Amino acid sequence: MNTRRDFLQKIGASALMLQLSSLTSFANSSVQIGHPYTGRVLRVAIMGLGGYGTRVAEAMNACSKAKLVGVISGTPSKITDWQRKYNIPEKNCYNYDNFDQVKNNPDIDAIYVITPNALHHGQVIRAAKAGKHVICEKPMALNAEEGQEMVDVCEKANVKLLVGYRMHFEPRTLEVVRMRNAGEFGKVMFFQGQCGFKAGDPKQWRLNKALAGGGSMMDIGIYALNGARYMVGEEPIWVTAQETKTDSEKFKEGVDETVQFQLGFPGGAVASCLSSYNINHLDRFFLSGDNGFAEMQPSTGYGPIKGRTHHGELVQPIVTHQTVQMDEMAGIIFEKRTPVIPVDGKEGLKDLKIIDAIYRAIKTGEKVMLTD
Ligand code: NAD
Repeated sequence: MNTRRDFLQKIGASALMLQLSSLTSFANSSVQIGHPYTGRVLRVAIMGLGGYGTRVAEAMNACSKAKLVGVISGTPSKITDWQRKYNIPEKNCYNYDNFDQVKNNPDIDAIYVITPNALHHGQVIRAAKAGKHVICEKPMALNAEEGQEMVDVCEKANVKLLVGYRMHFEPRTLEVVRMRNAGEFGKVMFFQGQCGFKAGDPKQWRLNKALAGGGSMMDIGIYALNGARYMVGEEPIWVTAQETKTDSEKFKEGVDETVQFQLGFPGGAVASCLSSYNINHLDRFFLSGDNGFAEMQPSTGYGPIKGRTHHGELVQPIVTHQTVQMDEMAGIIFEKRTPVIPVDGKEGLKDLKIIDAIYRAIKTGEKVMLTD
């Protein structure tokens, strides 16, 4: 049923897309200028109603192509809160035991998994086997073996697997990628990515190896790694890495506090990256080529992203990342649209293979060659 709120949301999102459509680097945006979207809407159930799930739900209020219609949670009081807030019918509410039944629910198209990292593998596989498209938060899994299985199961079930790489739709990021593709930096020779914050509560799941699968590298270092790949525009061929730990009580065995890693690319570029749970205000990218540079700070936070290149300030519109992400993901799923930077399971798997190699390099102290 079309409510006034739905209509206003669609108009709001259209206005946003109108701004975006003026960008050559966002030429992929698809909502028709001046017209409310009337195509198929991606009906999403969010699994994991925590901090980030809440942020995504709020951002989805402004989506035109995607709509929050269901929830999956282990906490009944959260379910009733969300039902009230987002007008979610009882028949679209599930818990972690019974959500396989979503296979009998024709009113849900996709499940967005926003739970602690260690749960992604099993939950994505169950969602796929229930015949639903899956959007999974980063890191997609704990390691490449899990990630490969998730990609295979989703392929077999004929459902899409997408990873919540919100920066892949961010206009200023896309402008730097457009400039790189157009050769405006010349030959790219260096990338620096620094991502970190001070992790607070020592009891949180992020500092629990069993739930997080590691430490800062899994959670925040992945932005520097993923950024190195989309900024340089090549896949790395080797990695070296070192870990520094100053507080072994808080950051227990297997939970990395600070990781430095270096990547080598086939064209000769190198990347120098830093991931930390013990350094605040660490959110900076720098890309250098023979003819120019880009620097972004903040580079991956919720925004506004700020930056400049050798041509001057980046001035592309400031957007709510998750709103644009969810509208674009709806386009990928229903309209077979191709994003400028991939967000599919194979993209998530590439990061997991390199993270595996980073942990191997830390352990052995040796350079690890990356194959395939
Ligand atoms: P959170 O702790 O705020 O929320 C996690 C949710 O999972 C909670 O609602 C919790 O109740 C639920 N949960 C289910 N089973 C659980 C279990 N066994 N143990 C603990 N919690 C359990 O965490 P978050 O910050 O929302 O992170 C969730 C996921 O989202 C993580 O994979 C994280 O990396 C990702 N994330 C992504 C971004 C982004 O910008 N893309 C930002 C933050 C978090």
